[in-house]
Formats: sequence, C-alpha cells, structure tokens
Amino acid sequence: MEEKAISVRKLYEMFASGENFSKLNEVVAQGWVRTNRNNGKVGFIVLHDGTVFKSVQIVYTEGESFLANSKIKTGASIRVHGHIALTPGMQQPFEIQAKTIEVLGDVADDYPLQKKQSSFEFLREQAYLRPRTNTFDAVFRVRSVLAMAIHTFFQENGFVYVHTPEITGNDAEGAGSVFSVCTERNGKPDETDFYGRKASLTVSGQLHVEAFALAFKDVYTFGPTFRAEKSNTPRHASEFWMIEPEMAFADLEDDMEVIESVIKYCIRYVLDKCPDEMQFFNKWIDKGLLEKLNNVLANPFKKMEYTEAIKLLQDAVKGGHKFENNKIEWGMDLQSEHERYLTEQIVKGPLFLINYPKEIKAFYMRENDDGKTVAACDCLVPGEGEIVGGSQREERYEILKAKMDKLGNTEGLEWYLNLRKYGGCKHAGFGIGFDRLLMYITGINNIRDTEPYPRTSSNLKY
Ligand code: ATP
Repeated sequence: MEEKAISVRKLYEMFASGENFSKLNEVVAQGWVRTNRNNGKVGFIVLHDGTVFKSVQIVYTEGESFLANSKIKTGASIRVHGHIALTPGMQQPFEIQAKTIEVLGDVADDYPLQKKQSSFEFLREQAYLRPRTNTFDAVFRVRSVLAMAIHTFFQENGFVYVHTPEITGNDAEGAGSVFSVCTERNGKPDETDFYGRKASLTVSGQLHVEAFALAFKDVYTFGPTFRAEKSNTPRHASEFWMIEPEMAFADLEDDMEVIESVIKYCIRYVLDKCPDEMQFFNKWIDKGLLEKLNNVLANPFKKMEYTEAIKLLQDAVKGGHKFENNKIEWGMDLQSEHERYLTEQIVKGPLFLINYPKEIKAFYMRENDDGKTVAACDCLVPGEGEIVGGSQREERYEILKAKMDKLGNTEGLEWYLNLRKYGGCKHAGFGIGFDRLLMYITGINNIRDTEPYPRTSSNLKY
C-alpha cells in the first residue's frame, strides 16, 4: 500500500509544539509546485499542499534524477519522499531533502500562472486557477475562518441559526432590483407557473427571520443574497453573502452594541487564527492594515446623527472640499464619497450614522418621535463606506400598516404585519455584508477578489 502523505500543516504543527518532530525522519508529502529553481548542483522546489498558508521547501541534489527534477514545472502536482532536516536561521525552519520526487500531474505549456506576479484583473479571468496563488490562498482561507468567526460569535451568545429561503414571494426592501425565478415553457419564461405567483431570489432574509426572533429571541441568518443592481462598483456584487441577526426586546442601542461586538470579535478571531495570512496582507496588499485593525479593536465606535453629518458635509463644501455630488441637503441619500469623508476625514475610524430621514430608508424601520426620522444605523468604515445596515423595527401595527398600505406592499406580507398583532414586541436587527467585511479585514479593495466566483453584471464566465 502507498505510504500516507503527511500534510504540510501537520509538519508545522509538530514543529511548533516540538512534539515528536525530532522523531520524524522519512516523510512523504504531496502538493503542487509553486516554484522550482536550481544552481546546477542543488535544486529547490517550493511545495504547497493547500493545508496551510505556508509552503515547505524541497531540496534535491546531484544524482541521476537531478535533470528530471529540475524540469518539474510550476503548477505540477508531485509526491515527495524524503528526510526532514532542520534549517535554523533560514527563511523556513525546516525542509525536506528529497530521495525521490514523482510527478503525479504534469502541467501543459499554456499554464496561465507562471512565476511572475499577475495582476488582479488578469487573475479574475482565471477564476478557476487563482486559488493557487498566494494572495487568493490567503483570501479564501480567511474567508473560511471568518465564516467560522461569525457562527462562533452568534452561537456562543445564544443566537439560533435560521435558514431563511433563497426563493421568496416578497421583495424585502420594497425596491425593484430582484432576479425573477420562473420555469420555462416552450422556450419562454413562465413567471407564475410554479408557485402560482411571481417569485424572486431573496434580497434579504430579514422579514422571514423576524418571525423567528419573535419565537427564539435572538436569531441570525447567514447565506447568499441576490440583487439585480447593475452598480458597477468595487463594492457591489449581484450575489453576495449576508449575516442578518435579529433580536427581540432590543432597541437601536442594543443593535449597535452587537454590531460593534461582532465586528471586533471577527477581527480578533482572524488575527488569532490567520497570523501568516494577515502578515501577508499587511506586507503586500495594505501596509497599514494591522495598525488599522488594532486601532479598531482599541477604540469604541463613534456615533453621529444623520442631521449632524449633513451639517458637517455642508461645512466641508463651504470649506472648499469637492464631492462629485456637492449638493448636500437634509433628506438626501448619502453616497459612498460622503460616507467615506465622514469616516475617513472626520472621525478617522468606524462610525455609526443614526436616525436617517424616513423617506430614504426601508418601510420596516421604526419611526422616531420627531415624525421625520427612523431608528436606523449604518456602520461606516474608512476605505469602504457602509458595511452594516441596521435598524429598530416598527413594532406598532397601525403605523406599519399605514406605511405598507401607502407603499402598496401589504398584499402577501400580511403575515409580517400579523407579527405585530400576535405578541409583538420591540425588536431590532442588522445586515452585515460578509464579503464587505472580508474586504475590510483583508484590505482587498474589490469585492470581485473576495468571492470564489464573483457574480457581477456581464460577468458569468465561470
Ligand atoms: P449600498 O448602499 O452599499 O448599496 P445597501 O444600503 O443597499 O448598500 P443594505 O440593504 O443595508 O445595503 O444591506 C446590508 C449590507 O449588505 C450592506 O451594509 C452591505 O454590507 C451589504 N451589501 C448590500 N448590497 C450589496 C452588494 N450589492 N454587494 C455586496 N454587499 C452588499
């Protein structure tokens, strides 16, 4: 029987703990060649097996197989049999001195990932191969760890995970940007054939999860969300992941407390579990990343009323600052440039912007006593703008019904209104864009580089 290979992860773990590492003599390792170079006498292969961000160096020396080994190409999958040798003082603490190297899968000459660094744009065109590069190895490893951080935070705090449906009969925002779900009859789409009514992919699981909050108190959804906006920005995708917690007996202040806690928890979790990846991002993607994240951890998030923000933006314009949209007035929906000015120039850190005009926010947000604003909070961060949108929900039946009737979206959402009749209570929740959170934590500045196969308009190659 073929000897079982040891993972590179296991090697580093054993080295770090000291446990039995010295007893390791001969090992078998397998993985893919990142680079292969030689000086005519000694050759070095950087072997990556995907189990950990680090690679291991394979050394081969003169002998009958030298020529064959020196021809092994970048990207080939290989199986190495050799001795572990300590290499104190070198870049890596140990290496494998190869006795034999077997090529399991050779690489054709048109392999797109050659040694030199490739641009993000080029790699987007190679979405099926880019996980083999250092950057995307780090991105997708952190993505996986970040998902675990989210679940751990909420599970440890007693939240129940709810799988809300991807196919829905309602459009949670009351906006029109949905993808329709329909069957095909004689080559033509039939919109009502299957469900007897129009169906779409969900833009948010919030309305469905609110019903669960009124049974379990604290709940969250975490799943894909779809929006058919053609916003061609680095921060918008048509399919992205959202975390949507919902808490009964909670108000806007409670909401912001949880938002701040979960963001800080996620940062700490990733820094702790992915130190090598985070060092890599800090070195190659954003030199101030670790400092930025440590600052976030060290300071409370600031809070600012929307009304105050408008005044500050107007002052900025008066003072000569030029926004693309310089017409700042109360009631406007802030654009990313305005959000970024507030978080980058004014507070220089994460900022909760609260109490927005009711006209620009969703129907389910709770109206404040001033009759003009709703109890909403957007969490804005430097470099990115909004990463979380939250609110206290309107729990007063009559007020909510009047709003929904005016919008004409009551039909089909009677059940949602009924939640206010059947033991309703104050409650609040929020939505974190998972991909945006990942962008923030890694310093990657395009959402297309945080998703395995990004979905944006005119982009469905893979
Ligand atoms: P934006 O103003 O940035 O388009 P939004 O106000 O439409 O966002 P919400 O409806 O509040 O966003 O959604 C909650 C969160 O989901 C946002 O804070 C953001 O992190 C994320 N999000 C929203 N739209 C997208 C998108 N198209 N791609 C990726 N993430 C998104």
